[in-house]
Amino acid sequence: MLNPEKDPMGHAVSDYWLTGRADKLIVKSDVTEPDEIPVSCLFRTPDEMPAVEIKALEKCRGSVLDIGAGTGVHSLALKARGFGGVKSIDISALSVDVMRSRGVERAACLDFFDSGFKQKYDTLLFLMNGIGIAGTLAGLDYFLNCCIEHLNPGGQILLDSSDISYMFDSSEAFPDHYYGEVLYQMIYKDIYSDIFRWLFVDFNTLRKACSRFGLNCTLLMEEENNSYLARLSPV
Ligand code: SAH
Repeated sequence: MLNPEKDPMGHAVSDYWLTGRADKLIVKSDVTEPDEIPVSCLFRTPDEMPAVEIKALEKCRGSVLDIGAGTGVHSLALKARGFGGVKSIDISALSVDVMRSRGVERAACLDFFDSGFKQKYDTLLFLMNGIGIAGTLAGLDYFLNCCIEHLNPGGQILLDSSDISYMFDSSEAFPDHYYGEVLYQMIYKDIYSDIFRWLFVDFNTLRKACSRFGLNCTLLMEEENNSYLARLSPV
């Protein structure tokens, strides 16, 4: 679980929710210059969501687990569409407080990789590159294994990610490890997160990993900015 003293995003969304404004939420990475995440984006309504996210919401069925739910944007959109029992988890206690006060009923401060967490669902939802929690390609295998353990028979995993190869302007610029393994650090006011790895995975690499786990991997949608939506389901 995230220590609140090292949870810049949690403080940013909490400030925004409580006061209607927030300072700059800065993200540093080893692939681009430091950038700012507009905190209002973390409260986006369906009208403001990218097409891959809308498509993912349309594809949800049965019981849904929203992983890394943040402020609950997708859980709330599903609730508005009549989904009763969406379960929403996040490792940020500050974010969980925000999603609860926004009306997310089944919110829990929980790590998806927690071995004590055993429930199964019909749909696992990982949006805004939620597969990032895998961290590395090696971590992707572990991630897929955990996903399978949380799936009911006939269940599905919906996730969006991107091929970020366009960020490297020459073949020499590519790192030694898989290029989608990005190092990140978030900063808000004087609150610094630990440095963490966040995985962006291109569709072909994902499809190959899925085949090792007996998962069908279907491309549901592609967008111009190299992002895509995929559905994974046991064969
Ligand atoms: N899905 C939200 C938030 C995306 S930010 C949206 O689209 O707006 C990613 C979120 O994942 C953060 O809130 C972070 O705290 C959470 N997270 C990171 N690792 C996690 C893990 N292992 N289990 C559950 N949540 C995690």
